[in-house]
Amino acid sequence: MFSIIIPLYNEEKTIPELVTRLAAVTDGMSDPWELILVDDGSTDGSFTAMCALHRNDPRIKVVRLSRNFGHQIAISAALDLAQGDAVILMDGDLQDPPELLPQLIKLWKDGYHVVYTVKTSRKENWLKRLAFKSFYRILSAMSSIKIPMDAGNFSLMDRRVVEVLRTMPERNRYISGLRAWAGFQQTAVYYDRGPRFAGKPQMSLGRLFHLALDGIFSFSNAPLRAAIYFGMAAAMVSFAGGLYVVYEKLFTNLAILGWASTIVSILFVGGMILMTLGVIGEYISRIYEEVKKRPLYVIRDKIGF
Ligand code: UDP
Ligand code: MG
Repeated sequence: MFSIIIPLYNEEKTIPELVTRLAAVTDGMSDPWELILVDDGSTDGSFTAMCALHRNDPRIKVVRLSRNFGHQIAISAALDLAQGDAVILMDGDLQDPPELLPQLIKLWKDGYHVVYTVKTSRKENWLKRLAFKSFYRILSAMSSIKIPMDAGNFSLMDRRVVEVLRTMPERNRYISGLRAWAGFQQTAVYYDRGPRFAGKPQMSLGRLFHLALDGIFSFSNAPLRAAIYFGMAAAMVSFAGGLYVVYEKLFTNLAILGWASTIVSILFVGGMILMTLGVIGEYISRIYEEVKKRPLYVIRDKIGF
């Protein structure tokens, strides 16, 4: 059986079209399937629309979270409930074409455990495109494991990989990274990412930036290391400067003119310290998040399970 997981947050306008296009694909499938719609605390009519879908077709199941927990957590909630031997993750705004599913499934049947998709083009504005591009490049340069570039959530995972993800307790979840971490046989499918079907992106630039930080800080110690290197570089520069000052004092009569250099080095070192503290703080706040051990999500309603 296949589980198709779709997180939805205020997508009432898209839901009918989403289900029509999915049905066109699932009707042609010989294997049984379930569709898990996660209502991530929507404030519009999304939940009512989802319930209506369930009444029409009991293979469509609905989970409602008690509030908006965010995209990655919504997916995690559905992963805990999915029964399929393979699980397909996709966005609910039709930026991930359902027509790609047969291809993902075929590769899974060929023996791949993870089939992720890579976007060859994006229909977002240049600023967002640039941000995504640089994020994936920075992450892959800094990360200690190999995370494929431009690969988002849209993917198929074998049950064994899902079980690995489910055992990962972390709160700051960056699914594409965790999926890569799991290993097994992974392969890519390329596609053009279309624009949203309706509505505005639910992930603001700010939230995407947050997710990007989750990606980098959970998969890399490089920022912590960078702090050490910057600190060492700064110390070396100041040491050289110090030698020069002593030389000036002992062998020339130019001393005391050094006010500017003093201020400059204080500012420089101060800046380094603040930056380093920031980096350390970022990791500490993550440690704090993890040790609180709160549940990842709270379910309000479960329909069809
Ligand atoms: N989404 C969600 N919770 C949120 C934000 C978004 O479940 O807090 C869903 C949203 O409904 C959509 C998917 O996650 O189905 C991707 O969101 P969006 O299109 O806003 O992200 P982007 O395409 O900009 O990455
Ligand atoms: Mg989208």
